[in-house]
Amino acid sequence: MEEAIVEAVQILRSSTPIMVFSGAGISTESGIPDFRGPNGLWTKLDPDDFTIGRYLADVEIRRRSWKMFVESRNLGGPIEPNPAHRAVTNISRLGFLSGCVTQNIDGLHQAAGLTDEEVVELHGHVREVRCVDCRTAYPTDDVLARVSTGEDDPRCLRCSGILKSATVMFGEFLPVKEMERAWRFAEAAGSVLAIGSTLSVFPAADIPLSIASSGRPLVIVNLGPTEADDLAALRIEGKAGEVLPRLVTALAMAG
Ligand code: NAD
Ligand code: ZN
Repeated sequence: MEEAIVEAVQILRSSTPIMVFSGAGISTESGIPDFRGPNGLWTKLDPDDFTIGRYLADVEIRRRSWKMFVESRNLGGPIEPNPAHRAVTNISRLGFLSGCVTQNIDGLHQAAGLTDEEVVELHGHVREVRCVDCRTAYPTDDVLARVSTGEDDPRCLRCSGILKSATVMFGEFLPVKEMERAWRFAEAAGSVLAIGSTLSVFPAADIPLSIASSGRPLVIVNLGPTEADDLAALRIEGKAGEVLPRLVTALAMAG
C-alpha cells in the first residue's frame, strides 16, 4: 500500500485542485450499509421497491419506508463521520480541493467540517421531508416523531399531499442546481479522487468520468472493482478510513 500512496500523491499533487467524488463506501465505516458492496442493502432489499412510481402509488411501500426510516434512526447512537471524511476535509484545509461531489444522503462530509459551499449532494439529503405536491419542507425529526406516534403514512399539514424525504429515488431527476454546481467543480478540477463508489450509478458517475475522459487523472480508492477501473490512473484497493488519512498526510508532506 505504501508504494500506491506515494504514487497517488505524485499524481494528485501535480494535478490540483482535486475533485473528490464519494459514494456509499466512504460511510460504511460510520456504520451505514452501502447498496452494492458484499453486505450491501441490495443483497436484502429489492431496488424495484425504491422507485418514485411505486412510492407514490402504493401506501404499503410508503408505510414500510417510514417504518424503516424510524428504525434506522433508533439504531444505537448518532452517526459520526469517520477518518475518511475527515481526510477529505483536510484536502480542503491544504487548499487542494475543487469541491466534493457526493452520492451520499447522510450529511457526513459537512459533519466532518466541509462547508455547504464545498459539498454537492447529488442524491439529496435526509435533513428534510417535502410534500410532493406543494413542496412544503418539514424537518425530518418532526415527521419521524409523527410516524412514531402512529401516523404510518404522514401527510402534508398544508395540502394533505404525500410526504417524501428530500432524497432522490430511482426514476427521479437529479436536482438541477446541484448538478450545475457539480459540473463547475469538475471543470475547475485538475484530477478526481473517487472514494467508495462502484462508479456505476448514472448520471452521477458522468461527473468523475468526464474528468477522466478529458485526460485528467482519476485515482480510485475502493474495496472491490468499479466500472471505471480501466480509466483510472491508479486504483488503491483498501478501506477508505485506512487509506485516506495516510494519503492526505503524505499529500501534506509533499508540500
Ligand atoms: P455502491 O453501493 O454502488 O458502492 C459502494 C462501493 O464502496 C462498493 O464497491 C463497496 O465494495 C465499496 N466499499 C464499501 N465499504 C468501503 C470502505 N470502507 N472503503 C472503501 N470502499 C468501500 O455505492 P454508490 O456507487 O455510492 O451508489 C449507491 C447509491 O446509493 C448512491 O447513489 C447513494 O445515493 C445511495 N446510498 C447512500 C448511502 C449514504 O448516504 N451513506 C448509503 C447507501 C446508499
Ligand atoms: Zn403540501
